[in-house]
Amino acid sequence: MKKNIKLAKHAGFCYGVKRAVETTKKLKTENKDTKIWVLGELIHNSQVIQSLSRLGINTVDELPENEGGICVIRSHGASPEIFKDIKSKGYDVVDLTCPDVKKVQQKAIQLVQEGFLLVIVGKPEHPEVSAIKANAEIYGQDIVVTPDVESLMAYEKILKEHKKIGVVVQTTQRIEVLKNVVNYLTGITKELRVFNTICASTSLRQNEARQLAGESDLMIVVGSKKSANTTHLAEILRDITETIHIETDAELDDFSELIKKAVNIGITAGASTPEDIIDKVINKLNEY
Ligand code: SF4
Repeated sequence: MKKNIKLAKHAGFCYGVKRAVETTKKLKTENKDTKIWVLGELIHNSQVIQSLSRLGINTVDELPENEGGICVIRSHGASPEIFKDIKSKGYDVVDLTCPDVKKVQQKAIQLVQEGFLLVIVGKPEHPEVSAIKANAEIYGQDIVVTPDVESLMAYEKILKEHKKIGVVVQTTQRIEVLKNVVNYLTGITKELRVFNTICASTSLRQNEARQLAGESDLMIVVGSKKSANTTHLAEILRDITETIHIETDAELDDFSELIKKAVNIGITAGASTPEDIIDKVINKLNEY
């Protein structure tokens, strides 16, 4: 049976990730004799991290004390303490925080400065979220981080103690999660200000994937299981059609029965998935 395989238009690198990867590589080309360090994985993709390492770009969780060189801040952003620490260790900083993430940080600061209790919707341990919180914390401590409405309910007493509540959301979050939080808060407070800071790239990718899932018997989401936006994509699509989430083409064989059965197969990929990995998945699917 002939298969109809369709790739979503907005699959793979978003502009923030593309900018981070290209600028970091260019930095090395232009500063051959300088050590380049990236604090945390530049993107959640081990193949890309390995290729950066082959170019002499080091990924570290903590900067060594006396090495020197240039330290890159990835698209997720970082806390003011991290910027201070990098400079105090004598490194130059190249800040590649995505402009969309910067906007969330600015909105969060604005809400705290204006006396709102700040609710950040996102996973507390995600680097983007912890950086948003750390940047806002300089201006006030009334901040709650919540991955979903269920967890937010545990803070009801604190929420009710505040006259006004402001909300920002992790750039790669699902809109349904934000809507649930906003619905709940509407019943808690008289003054609610919401900034929907889900980035345009994420909205486009999610909407297009939803549409494609509606026409497909099987959706394949390609990308790291550590990547928030990729995991969110898979969660959204599972509610619409049969969905599998794989990191590389090698995992396709684990789902051979599903693939053989499917006629219309849709493919999408997270913001940190390189094009060649997507191509390999398509090539392998064509062999089925
Ligand atoms: S997913 Fe959105 S916010 Fe994150 S790097 Fe890409 S464009 Fe920027």
